Amino acid sequence: MSGLFGPLQEAQAYVIQRSLRPHLLGRDPLANELLLDQMLRLDRHGRSGLSMTGVSPVDCALWDLKGKAWGQPVYRLLGGPTRPSVPAYASMLRFSLEPTAAAEAAREYQAKGFTAQKWFFRHGPGDGEAGKAKNVATARALREAVGPDYALMFDAVMGWDTPYAIDMVKRLAPLNPAWMEEPIPPERVGGLRQIREAAGFPIATGEHVYTRWQVKELLVAGAVDVLQTDPDWTGGITELTKICALASAFETPVVAHGHSLLPALHVAAAQSPVTVPRVEFLIRSQENKQYFHKPIYRPEGGDVRLPDLPGLGLVIDESKVESRTTMEFKA
Ligand SMILES: [Mg+2]
Repeated sequence: MSGLFGPLQEAQAYVIQRSLRPHLLGRDPLANELLLDQMLRLDRHGRSGLSMTGVSPVDCALWDLKGKAWGQPVYRLLGGPTRPSVPAYASMLRFSLEPTAAAEAAREYQAKGFTAQKWFFRHGPGDGEAGKAKNVATARALREAVGPDYALMFDAVMGWDTPYAIDMVKRLAPLNPAWMEEPIPPERVGGLRQIREAAGFPIATGEHVYTRWQVKELLVAGAVDVLQTDPDWTGGITELTKICALASAFETPVVAHGHSLLPALHVAAAQSPVTVPRVEFLIRSQENKQYFHKPIYRPEGGDVRLPDLPGLGLVIDESKVESRTTMEFKA
């Protein structure tokens, strides 16, 4: 039996090889609950940040292995499918934010069948009033391009502070955003709650939040409307499934960040559409991330069909592999 997951960044591979691998060798790979609990306790600093970006892909690979052992897609082992395909929103990172160009791209992806899009603001507190005006000009052009009722989201990638964010959400509110994402870093829970109260429209965060306990803090504080914990980072498929159960008790939807598509897709396919309404599809990076895979999973008409292969459905396309090297990190 074997399980596969990736791609990984070098820092993740370092955590896995130096910290986790000695603990995992020779263990029962089907006992993913036991292994996750122990990985969370292995390093005294290990329940957040970089350590969790090493723990999480190991958990995803264990689910791939479990699916292959049972001969079933992972979403079936998780209790799905709840639907034959899952809607994806178009995540427009690295598109031009010049209003005319952005509006043109927004119309193009709306026409492809995407029922929601997310755009990223470039300007923050260091750019003063002129930067705020540019953010709003882009947002207004996008709203005019897609029409008044289309789901249009915005992301500040933690680049703002609370006063700046409060001013921005007040300026954005007339444009009817479906959510404002990561206006500030997620551990600033009190600030998020203030921004949420000022906005009057949904606030999203979670892609840099790790494990169910950090999620609980946001939910109990009333600081979030849409949770975005990423299975590649927050503790794997095992932890994201627990987070979905927790979030459903607060009637807060989970729309996982889309660092990679497949783990989030399998979890989504095993949850109620109320709990997980969509997945994220990063238009300009998913094709590269899946370059060595076959099949390549991408939305068609705005929806991603579920894999029917055992495990995660991740297969290496050998025709693209030119060489293989084992990474070694010396002490
Ligand atoms: Mg984001």
